[in-house]
Amino acid sequence: NKQVIFRDYVSGFPKESDMEVRKSAMKLRLPEGSDGLLVKNLYLSCDPYMRIRMAKPDADHVNSFEPGSPITGYGVARVLESGHPNFKKGDLLWGFTGWEEYSLITAPETCFKIEHTDVPLSYYTSLLGMPGMTAYAGFFEVCSPKKGETVFISAASGAVGQLVGQFAKLFGCYVVGSAGSKEKVDLLKNKFGFDDAFNYKEELDLNAALKRCFPEGIDIYFENVGGKTLDAVLLNMKLHGRIAACGMISQYNLEQPESVHNLMNIVLKRVRMEGFAVLDYYHLYPKFLEMVLPQIKEGKIVYVEDTAEGLEDASAALIGLFSGRNVGKQVVVVSQE
Ligand code: NDP
Repeated sequence: NKQVIFRDYVSGFPKESDMEVRKSAMKLRLPEGSDGLLVKNLYLSCDPYMRIRMAKPDADHVNSFEPGSPITGYGVARVLESGHPNFKKGDLLWGFTGWEEYSLITAPETCFKIEHTDVPLSYYTSLLGMPGMTAYAGFFEVCSPKKGETVFISAASGAVGQLVGQFAKLFGCYVVGSAGSKEKVDLLKNKFGFDDAFNYKEELDLNAALKRCFPEGIDIYFENVGGKTLDAVLLNMKLHGRIAACGMISQYNLEQPESVHNLMNIVLKRVRMEGFAVLDYYHLYPKFLEMVLPQIKEGKIVYVEDTAEGLEDASAALIGLFSGRNVGKQVVVVSQE
């Protein structure tokens, strides 16, 4: 069983050498009496929160990876053997699995059975999986959007951002995104249908860039990056604006988080800033599928994935999230059958 092993706790920017590919002996059998699953992994998801799990455990990082054990994360897998009533041999699922060819899943009740296979299966790591649910819950449940409102999204071409933007457009909002390259800005404008977009790395003054795009101010900010972007956004929020704090990727590798200077604007503008975790919204998954599957089939929602081939490329793919190497959702293909 080929596995991607987490070597040791990380501080600062993660490196490929923080993980290594090893082969281990594994009996392709479910242990006697187990109510778990033996699965073959097909697609693995690279997600920014995995950096938080690389840190040494403390009160905030209770769920760190274990040095010497395989990385774990979301993936799509096929059931080879089942001891659980919800699944049978041959079923496809998405949920928590290991970065390895074959895994024993000990909590099958946390996995979702894949019922719709007339879409690319990798979508269950992205558009139809955790990032899709994050975009859906974050936008519709946390942002309380109204038609005609102005929406700003950071890391806008990524797994979550590209969907938030499309949901907001379909809902009738004015949508602007920021991203870190010309290629990504072109995608936002020409593929995902954003009204405007800018490359934050080329803007000397983020406040001025936001004033240019939002002369009347921002009603909704979908926060993916934190730091300087958040500070500039706070100067541009409208009265009674909402900020959905989804993530702050610019802070994940810093030893000392950056200070945010403009928080007083939350008071002055009566802004509601709310953090959320997708885990609290999975009960809405059937409702989400009901909305999004027809939108995909009708071509109203499009999606871009960036695929790495094989477990050998998985660590570089994961680390690439923190330099913006990925264009769209970063997926690792382990096997296609
Ligand atoms: P992406 O697919 O967007 O990949 C990460 C992107 O972040 C990179 O491509 C890069 O894009 C951008 N980035 C990396 N470093 C920086 C930096 N220092 N400053 C600004 N941008 C940076 O990731 P996801 O869509 O999966 O995740 C987006 C956010 O959502 C993350 O903060 C993540 O932690 C959070 N999240 C939260 C969830 C929740 O339940 N609350 C669930 C899922 C995700 P670019 O080239 O544009 O800089």
